[in-house]
Amino acid sequence: METHIDNLVKLQAVELERAGLNQALRALPGEVALAESALAAAQGKSADISSALSREDSLRTRLEREIAGHRQKAARFRTQLDTVKTPEQAEAIEHEIRFETAEADRLEEEEYASLERSEAQEPMLAAAREQVESLAEALEKTQARIELRRREFAAQLASLDVERESLRKLIAPEWLSRFDRLCASRGTGIVPAENQQCTGCRMGLRPQAWNELREGQLIACDSCQRLLYWDPAMAPAPKAPQPEAIPGAGRAVRRPRSAGA
Ligand SMILES: [Zn+2]
Repeated sequence: METHIDNLVKLQAVELERAGLNQALRALPGEVALAESALAAAQGKSADISSALSREDSLRTRLEREIAGHRQKAARFRTQLDTVKTPEQAEAIEHEIRFETAEADRLEEEEYASLERSEAQEPMLAAAREQVESLAEALEKTQARIELRRREFAAQLASLDVERESLRKLIAPEWLSRFDRLCASRGTGIVPAENQQCTGCRMGLRPQAWNELREGQLIACDSCQRLLYWDPAMAPAPKAPQPEAIPGAGRAVRRPRSAGA
C-alpha cells in the first residue's frame, strides 16, 4: 500500500480508537450516578421508616399522657362518691367514672396497636440500614473502579494523541484537511472498499474506480466522498485450485455389484 494511504489508514484507526475512548470516558460518570441514586433511594427508605417509628413513639407519649389523665379523673370521681348526698348524684358520678375508664381503656388499645406497628417496623429499619451500608460500600468501590478506569483511559488517550500527532506530520496537508473535513461530517475520512463497494456508505463502485483502487490508488467515493482504498490483505484469498470435478465423485454411489463378484 502507498505510504500516504497507509498513514491515513493508521490515522483513521487512531481517530476511531480515540472516539471510542472518549465515548467510554463520557459513560463513566453514569455508572457512579447509578450507584449514587441506588444509595439515595435506600437512604430515603430508611429515613421514611425511621420517621414512621418516631411518629409512633410520639403518638405513644401523647397517649400515655392522656391515659394517665383519664385514670386520674376516674380516681378523683371515685373519691367524690364518698361525699354524695343523693342516688342521682351517685349515678351521675358513676357515669363519669365509667366514661373516663372506658376512654383510658380505648387509648391503651391504641397504644398497644402502635407498639405492634413499631415492632413490625423495627426489622424493616434494620434491613434498610443494612442496605444503606452495603450500597454505600458499593458506591465507594464503584467510585474507585471508575477513577482507575478514567486514569487508564486518559493514559491511553495521551499515547494515542502522541501517535496521532506523529502520523499527521507524515501526511500531506491537502490530504489531511480533506480527511479532517470528512471525519467531521461523516465520522470517518477513509474506509476500505470491499466487494466493489464503499464500506462507508455501501454504494457500489464503477468498474473503472474499482480497477484504480486495485492498482493502489486513493480515490473518493462518488456518493459519500470518503476516501477509498483497497487492502489486498482484506480480499478473500484466492481459492486453492480444485481438482477437476469427476462426475459422480462425492456422491455416495453404490455400484451394483456384478453378479458372481
Ligand atoms: Zn461511500
